Amino acid sequence: IFDFNANISQLSGESTLLYKEIAKKVEKTKKLKIIDFGIGQPDVVTFKRIREAAKSALDEGFTSYTSALGIDELRIKIAEYLNNRYSTDVKKEEVIVTPGAKTALFLSFILYVNPGDEVILFDPSFYSYSEVVKLLGGKPIYVNLKWDKSEGFSIDVRDLENKITKKTKMIVFNNPHNPTGTLFSSSDVEKIINIAKDNKLLLLSDEIYDNFIYEGRMKSVLEDSDWRDFVLYINGFSKTFSMTGWRLGYVVAREDIINKMGILAANIYTCPTSFAQKAAVKAFETFDEVNEMVKLFRKRRDLIYEELNKIKEIKVSKPNGAFYIFPNIGDILQMKNIDVKTFAIKLIEEKGVVTIPGEVFPLNIGRQFLRLSFAVDENIIKEGVNRIREFIEGMM
Ligand code: PLP
Repeated sequence: IFDFNANISQLSGESTLLYKEIAKKVEKTKKLKIIDFGIGQPDVVTFKRIREAAKSALDEGFTSYTSALGIDELRIKIAEYLNNRYSTDVKKEEVIVTPGAKTALFLSFILYVNPGDEVILFDPSFYSYSEVVKLLGGKPIYVNLKWDKSEGFSIDVRDLENKITKKTKMIVFNNPHNPTGTLFSSSDVEKIINIAKDNKLLLLSDEIYDNFIYEGRMKSVLEDSDWRDFVLYINGFSKTFSMTGWRLGYVVAREDIINKMGILAANIYTCPTSFAQKAAVKAFETFDEVNEMVKLFRKRRDLIYEELNKIKEIKVSKPNGAFYIFPNIGDILQMKNIDVKTFAIKLIEEKGVVTIPGEVFPLNIGRQFLRLSFAVDENIIKEGVNRIREFIEGMM
């Protein structure tokens, strides 16, 4: 009687947590201070003004259900933020606030993915896209990102065009990109927009790292004046305002689509947490704090890039966005005839350094790479990369 839904059996969970478990054991048995490059969130507490606003909301008794679409005040702020930033024309009615960007993604996939539909994902990409598509009976179709040490990652447009079939429903794009830290060029963004439009495909664009930009200009899909015809835009509060535990994200799409998502929301979770939403309204007043944080992250990015670049067995490109660096360790793996997962586990066991093996992102290209988050202190970066160097030297 407890047979799972047939699509559940192939689902994998938060695999990044597995490595934390191994680290915990190593810390206990080896008394080794763990260095964690695995984390996917800024290492600062949510800014004070936001925390204070949550306290006030609670004290004022703002503790009931809200509209399934989120509170108007917040939907208005989100629309204003996007309109100021991207000179676009989003209206409050075109925004739904969700419990985290993951739920925003989930609503988008549920609304559009039928069994048998093909959904184009990039390889590598954030692990949860493929899992939700499979859960719904859809089929992830992977398009390679091209990699070059000096240029970093870019879209293989020909591969993308070749992968489109009659069954293709949607392209999932993430910019800036987890796990590679790539800020895609405006020209890459335009190419994807044009391919989606020409082939009448939905373009789901996850821009949750949009404030973590170190060089270059972030082009949003919302800058395309026809966005209502093909875009599902995803963003959230987790990364920009360091609010991962508050669970707040959002979707921007045409009003009728948002209303359908509201019906889904009402049936699944009713609404996002009321007082968290009230606090998030104040988040848009904390861009001084956000900018300070990003300044700090830029220094960390420079440091981790320089330090990794000194290890001659590693090939690494400088990330321009998000807070991840994605060094290529393919030569070492080949020389030692091991896979990236074994490398990452041994690195924890021997040196207490947690990284995320690229294979969790989730197909082929990642198998040559490790993901390191640089949302950690500069001393930790130095110590951690030093241990990685020692580990590699010990293998040679
Ligand atoms: N999208 C991407 C690309 C992410 O990296 C993450 C978190 O790691 C999410 C979405 C989920 O964000 P949230 O915490 O708002 O659910």
